[in-house]
Amino acid sequence: MSTSTPPHSKVIIIGSGPAAHTAAIYLSRAELQPTLYEGMLANGIAAGGQLTTTTDVENFPGFPKGIGGSELMDEMRAQSIRFGTTILSETIERVDFSTRPFKLWREYEDEPVTASCVIIATGASARRLGLPGEEKFWQNGISACAVCDGAVPIFRNKPLVVIGGGDSAAEEAMFLAKYGSQVTVLVRKAGLRASKTMAKRLLAHPKCKVRFNTVATEVTGEDKERGLMTGLRVKDVETGTEEHLEANGLFYAVGHDPATEMFRGVIEMDEENYILTRPGTSYTNVAGVFAAGDVQDKRYRQAITSAGSGCIAALEAEKFLAEQEDEDVQGGVEGDNQAAKPVQNGDAPEYRSNPLL
Ligand code: FAD
Repeated sequence: MSTSTPPHSKVIIIGSGPAAHTAAIYLSRAELQPTLYEGMLANGIAAGGQLTTTTDVENFPGFPKGIGGSELMDEMRAQSIRFGTTILSETIERVDFSTRPFKLWREYEDEPVTASCVIIATGASARRLGLPGEEKFWQNGISACAVCDGAVPIFRNKPLVVIGGGDSAAEEAMFLAKYGSQVTVLVRKAGLRASKTMAKRLLAHPKCKVRFNTVATEVTGEDKERGLMTGLRVKDVETGTEEHLEANGLFYAVGHDPATEMFRGVIEMDEENYILTRPGTSYTNVAGVFAAGDVQDKRYRQAITSAGSGCIAALEAEKFLAEQEDEDVQGGVEGDNQAAKPVQNGDAPEYRSNPLL
């Protein structure tokens, strides 16, 4: 791994989760010498991304016995380095994509670095509620991903709770009902935000019970190091009555925040600030800027889907660079030093989050 900053990179990857490293592996094997900015606690998450905050990952193919989240990310990082990716532990804090080469500013540095193309893989973070007991029992009963954690033994045939009133909450509750003895869904308001179909299915589910006008106030559990949660204090917001619920699992379904602040006004996003990509691709509205992983996927949010979209972004970046070189050889439009323009694709392109849809 080189630690010195290259003056110009053909490709800069921003991020360090499965999307960023998959893109880096593909691009470095294609001899495009990518530079990857893995961040220094960027967006409050360590280099390696969200998986560094979990213990066992049991659904990433190739690891039949499971693998620790940090260990999996260390392996991906080593694979990126093996093929020649330059990894820098710096955070990108500002970009200018209005002309090529693109300019990117690192935290604490005045001079920008430049790139012919950029892959945005800055990920997302699950919203938390900040309940008393949350820190202690996070990943020891509390999770923000039912698909990731629902099947682990501590939740089997145990009472579980989901917090949230939207489609994700309904989906997660019904998924968890496969494993838990009963799933209680806490909804702060008097009704569900979920679509009619999802709400109907949830309310009719024999193992799911919805409690409206109810909020959690504290997570309780074993009083020892790495103790597990065993219960939850809840409050009826209308009457103010509090009670204790037995619960061995608590799943937050209260939304995620994509790490896209520095791209506002630069890259097209949806109303929840997820980057919009042209369906089936990683193309953003700026030619030469691609997006992969959770930053553009509010639906699946899995390590494997992030890795898949990182691969797509790398292949599309490679194609973009090859086309730029062809244009240069033919003496046509200069690859760099020109105004960056929106992607042209015949008819007006429709952008939406998640290229795999
Ligand atoms: P992320 O993993 O979100 O990483 C993005 C990285 O980019 C972060 O390290 C961040 O610091 C960095 N970054 C952000 N902004 C900048 C910047 N400006 N400059 C430089 N760097 C920046 N999925 C599964 O498939 N299986 C599981 O078992 C599983 N368990 C999970 C458990 C937990 C607790 C959580 C939170 C998630 C879990 N997931 C699981 C989901 C999975 O972690 C994510 O879907 C996946 O990590 C998303 O990858 P990503 O590449 O989009 O980026």
